[in-house]
Amino acid sequence: MPGVLIPVDEAIAQLSAKAKLLVGSEKVPLLDAVGRVLAEDIVSPNAVPAFDNSAMDGYAVCAADVCIDVPIKISDRIPAGKVGKRLETGTVARIFTGAPMPEGADAIVIQEDTEQSGDAIVLKVAPAKGDHIRRAGQDIEAGKTILTKGRRLRPQDIGLAASVGCNELTVYQKLKVGVMSTGDELIDPPAKLGPGQIYNSNQYTLQALVRQLGMESVDLGIVADTPDATEAALKQGAKLADCILSSGGVSVGEEDHVKAVVEKLGALDLWRLAIKPGKPLAYGRIGDTPFFGLPGNPVSGFVTFMLIARGYLLRCQGCTETELTTVYGAANFTAKGGLRREYFRVQIQFDQNGNSQVTEYSNQGSGVMSSVSWANGLAEIEIGQAVKPGDQVKVLLLG
Ligand code: AMP
Ligand code: MG
Repeated sequence: MPGVLIPVDEAIAQLSAKAKLLVGSEKVPLLDAVGRVLAEDIVSPNAVPAFDNSAMDGYAVCAADVCIDVPIKISDRIPAGKVGKRLETGTVARIFTGAPMPEGADAIVIQEDTEQSGDAIVLKVAPAKGDHIRRAGQDIEAGKTILTKGRRLRPQDIGLAASVGCNELTVYQKLKVGVMSTGDELIDPPAKLGPGQIYNSNQYTLQALVRQLGMESVDLGIVADTPDATEAALKQGAKLADCILSSGGVSVGEEDHVKAVVEKLGALDLWRLAIKPGKPLAYGRIGDTPFFGLPGNPVSGFVTFMLIARGYLLRCQGCTETELTTVYGAANFTAKGGLRREYFRVQIQFDQNGNSQVTEYSNQGSGVMSSVSWANGLAEIEIGQAVKPGDQVKVLLLG
């Protein structure tokens, strides 16, 4: 087994087949639904807009009844929120953006195309039927599905739901993701570092990533590098969380106990991917609780979370949109793909002509967290792919 590295795409396919919805649903106030995953389709009970209305400040007219360059009587004034009377033939009605079209009118002449003449108005531009009218249902037709189950709701989705009259939404309950850090060298900030110690940054990176996905993170703490401590922490994690992420301890050294303990408490389904950084990634179960053993190196943990764990967790959360956005740009670096698919920390920037440049961080070491913080993307370098400056490379965008 140690010699066999699982290709990244194969691991993703296996995991997406295994990922199951792990949570129920709940009704929440509309604003609390942002970032959550919709658990039912939203069908609009009415049309939006519900009535024909003016798209501009101006004058409502019957296009066939009015001429330009002559004073015309203003027979009504219709602000937004008011309903005007039927338009008198041969007159115009002063109207404001969003106000309902009066009966008998079929066009709007915008204010800028008119001149005041005492109490009357002179049209400088001849209207055509339909000008500047927002038709009923032009945004949403009654009965239309506006948001579908499985969508992770963005602020604009919340506004869309409000525009059809929703004040609460049924979303999936937050997936509880337990995060544990293995390593005798770890301490939590702000304690003063002792000799040989480092801060437990992975705990914070991983919890923040989980929270950014609209899930609940559960701190399972720092776990000593012993089989007993690892076993106790994983058992506890399986009680407290729907899914467990650990960092560190999944490599092949004598201080790496995670793999053996997972095999004892459940099953190890995947171990070691053809990915750089992140080779020692493990996936399995503690009892029935899904488990990801992410590598301890901070960049490796981040990259494997983004590529492997993220999509899986989103599926367990009921989300159907799990892919990272992919773009392409011209590399301004050289690379020589090896025996594992490689992910470079890069910045992709577009110039005003839409051409993109992909720049790599100067130090691609798997412990260099600054590279991840600096990057806005991960450039994917395939096994054996040679990249020279100017070649198009695939970049997965980071949020
Ligand atoms: P391991 O996978 O346990 O061999 O750890 C690999 C490297 O990652 C070592 O240099 C660890 O000190 C470091 N590391 C492990 N866990 C963490 C963590 N929670 N935060 C920051 N660095 C870590
Ligand atoms: Mg370790």
